[in-house]
Amino acid sequence: MTLALHWFRTDLRIHDNQALASAQAGGSVAAIYIATPRQWQAHDDASIKQDYWRRNLQKLEAALQQVGIPLHYFEVATYKEIPALLERVLAEWQVNALHCNREYALNEHKRDAAVAALCSKLGIYMQLHDDAVLMPPERALNKSGQPYKVFTPFGRHMRELLEPLARREALVIKRQTSVPMKRLHEQRQLQELSWPAIDPVGEKLWVAGEVHARQKLMTFCADTITHYDEARNIPSIDGTSGLSHALAAGVLSIRECWRAAQSFGEGKGSEIWRNELLWRDFYKHIMWHYPHVSQHKPWRGDVGHVPWQHNKEEFARWSNGQTGIPIVDAAMRQLLQTGWMHNRLRMLTAMFLTKHLLIDWRWGESWFMQHLIDGDFAANNGGWQWSASTGTDAVPYFRIFNPVTQSRRFDPDGIFIRQYLPELAALNNKAIHEPGPERPSSYPAPMIELGFGRERALSAFKKQAELFQ
Ligand SMILES: Cc1cc2nc3c(=O)[nH]c(=O)nc-3n(C[C@H](O)[C@H](O)[C@H](O)COP(=O)(O)OP(=O)(O)OC[C@H]3O[C@@H](n4cnc5c(N)ncnc54)[C@H](O)[C@@H]3O)c2cc1C
Repeated sequence: MTLALHWFRTDLRIHDNQALASAQAGGSVAAIYIATPRQWQAHDDASIKQDYWRRNLQKLEAALQQVGIPLHYFEVATYKEIPALLERVLAEWQVNALHCNREYALNEHKRDAAVAALCSKLGIYMQLHDDAVLMPPERALNKSGQPYKVFTPFGRHMRELLEPLARREALVIKRQTSVPMKRLHEQRQLQELSWPAIDPVGEKLWVAGEVHARQKLMTFCADTITHYDEARNIPSIDGTSGLSHALAAGVLSIRECWRAAQSFGEGKGSEIWRNELLWRDFYKHIMWHYPHVSQHKPWRGDVGHVPWQHNKEEFARWSNGQTGIPIVDAAMRQLLQTGWMHNRLRMLTAMFLTKHLLIDWRWGESWFMQHLIDGDFAANNGGWQWSASTGTDAVPYFRIFNPVTQSRRFDPDGIFIRQYLPELAALNNKAIHEPGPERPSSYPAPMIELGFGRERALSAFKKQAELFQ
């Protein structure tokens, strides 16, 4: 009997899973999951996100059982210990092939390179599949064979490359007869792995399982996608898909999202939503082609001299939603209370931190990762570097969002602010964006005069731009 092993990482689903389907094409399949709690801690993976992984594994194990595929759990502290563990597992179970879906961040790439070297030593076939992206990074290159640095031409080219995707069927797993396997002493039960404490908020807000994620996708495409172009900027309504957590954990197939949006018509809403899916690919490709972004470095080489502030007190006020700028505080409290933040507010809060407060974008990047249910290194790093004007296709440093103007525009009646800042609920729709003398004593005065913050940032960026002229 030939045995193929599928190694689950951030691809926690059965439906349309390339590596899993490919493993099954070669014979009987068994699956493994390796928890790496110290690595997760080093990567700032939020507890709410780890808890979502746990709940998804529970569902996945049950679903795999239905098709006769056993899921076995292991735990080591960090990626470094994985080759030694796998060496024993592969030998004991006499595995013929190892399949996994590629992860594009630097440490994950190094981990997989070490496992590939092990497989080659043991004479075991290993295949990495490009399942987490719409297009492998090596295929979406410009005419000179170089990676794109700007999103717009990247998106245009991707749309051409993705034409055939509409005709491709989703991959389905067949039922197999169960595989008898020797129990290894390193094996654990799911609940024996080192998970953070169960998160009751996460459980209530973020339902686990691929069935739920696929239903949510269909409901979004049927009810909301046509208005997405307008609704996506209003934080007080459910105008976006709310699928980022499922995509980040691989509970939902990115190809399925693309096909679903396409099959619901070619309207503006669907077009713009698919553009967001392309941004997701764009940042993953950037992370792959420019590994220095995974090493806390700015993508742009010419922005190394911005005098970032490292003011812990100011950072704490921003983190805890106590800046005295209502839309910023409401957004930061949304993050703390739900593990998610609306995209418009991610841009706005990131820009407030990096421009008005001139605080190091890496502090904000890490705070977001520590709290987001959808924390994804590429998207988060890309979003932070965009906001701090250090990234690809960066917003020019002189374009600085004024949070109060943004608040008036995207939350005109203060509905979102009132939801997260109940202490301001009684203010009228004019005062709620910038309380002034109407401010209740329980709410802080603005921690910075916005005009001062803006001018300080402009002058710091201008000075450092002159250095490189
Ligand atoms: C500072 C900052 C940090 C961010 N951190 C993350 C993060 O850690 N994880 C994450 O998934 N997204 C991140 N984003 C992107 C975006 O804010 C979220 O993907 C979006 O808010 C998720 O909500 P949704 O699923 O309803 O999105 P929708 O509007 O429905 O978009 C559909 C999907 O497209 C992808 N997407 C949308 N916008 C972007 C984008 N700008 N970049 C990359 N992918 C995108 C997501 O997978 C999303 O689920 C960040 C943006 C900024 C500005």
